[in-house]
Amino acid sequence: MPKKEKEKTSEASALKEKLFMKRKNTGFEMSEAETAKADKFCEGYKSFLDTAKTEREACAEAVRLAEAAGFVPFDKGASYKPGDRVYSVNRGKAVILAIIGKKPVSGGVNIAAAHIDSPRIDLKQNPLYESEGLGYFKTHYYGGIKKYQWPTIPLALHGVIYKADGERVDVKLGEDENDPVLVITDILPHLADEQYKRPAPKLIKGEELNILIGSRPFRDDKASEAVKLGMMCILNEKYGITESDFISAELECVPAYKAKDVGFDRSMVGAYGQDDRVCAYTALSAVLAVKGTPDRTAVTVLTDKEEIGSEGCTGLKSSYMKYFLYDLAESFGVNGRTLLSNSKCLSADVNAAFDPTFADPFEKLNASFAGRGVVVTKYTGSRGKSGTSDASAEFVSEVRRMLDKDGVIWQTGELGKVDFGGGGTVAMYVANLDIDTIDVGVPVLSMHAPFEVTA
Ligand code: MN
Ligand code: MN
Repeated sequence: MPKKEKEKTSEASALKEKLFMKRKNTGFEMSEAETAKADKFCEGYKSFLDTAKTEREACAEAVRLAEAAGFVPFDKGASYKPGDRVYSVNRGKAVILAIIGKKPVSGGVNIAAAHIDSPRIDLKQNPLYESEGLGYFKTHYYGGIKKYQWPTIPLALHGVIYKADGERVDVKLGEDENDPVLVITDILPHLADEQYKRPAPKLIKGEELNILIGSRPFRDDKASEAVKLGMMCILNEKYGITESDFISAELECVPAYKAKDVGFDRSMVGAYGQDDRVCAYTALSAVLAVKGTPDRTAVTVLTDKEEIGSEGCTGLKSSYMKYFLYDLAESFGVNGRTLLSNSKCLSADVNAAFDPTFADPFEKLNASFAGRGVVVTKYTGSRGKSGTSDASAEFVSEVRRMLDKDGVIWQTGELGKVDFGGGGTVAMYVANLDIDTIDVGVPVLSMHAPFEVTA
């Protein structure tokens, strides 16, 4: 190459180096020691995924770990000092953990909020029936699922039943190696000509998500519904329940398999419910790992009902987090709204990882990628940014500097192309409390599928 041209090229690369944004890849950026540390962390993550497949189980596991780390139940009206560790459970389905900081809470608190509910198949209130010698549960799906993904995979049943006298029975069936599993059936391809003509969202219809639970009839009974009776006898023996007790139950069907490493290099985790337990586990681990007393009060919220729009008394559209923060403020003689207005929040939720096989719905320049660090999402929503809080440039700047200062590998991401769909997180409900909020989470492949993948 002539000398002059060579100089020009090196000038261009120097300028590129200086002016262009650099995209990072954990595969290049992380040392082998760091990768080994991450892999080790994921062992704990995988066992959390296996232990906590529902919001109730995740809440109970968080409380167990928090108590082991010295957290005690928050006592409204008690006085607290820096370094104190408290937690508050909301109806067994959501939990808030806090470590009191050195600085007064009047200056606000730092919040990390993740959700512990995931898309699943709930039982209806009157679920049990038999048809042509087979026993079934009727279901109503929870959250945004592609219904065709749920038949023909092993399902486990988790939840609680309250008997007529109010006694609680916990149910967890299908997780032990020796447990039976349940399943939703699908029509064989040989006879699927008519099914194939349906539009994809109706390939399996909501009322076809019937769970097969048995086939052996109650013996010596010429009466009708012998299979249903057979099933009810087993349920009565195992749980002490009668059919009416399903009315006061919350029973959730989730995939029965365990979390696994994915890939020859074991670089990914495949499991049910990583949206959003990948953020719940990390947020929980972070607050439990705080040594001594942080500067600002650290608050971790593990919430419920995000997948159906954060509605209800255990979702973040309700006031439970606000009430907790008001109570916390009050215990220091501080006005609740002063604490809220000065607080900041990382809404810890997943984003869609770019999928090369299904590249079309993504806009590559602004998509997030698996293996390129946590994704900071300034806004979610759909259409013209409807249904999002859209974090300010000022707050993005603050978060950006924080991440860079501590050498965190991160990327930005938007949920797909403009007008291709969309979604939301808890961010806007926290932001609605006058709290600066931004989404920070992990990119997920096959989000909301029974087997999701993260790097
Ligand atoms: Mn989520
Ligand atoms: Mn979700």
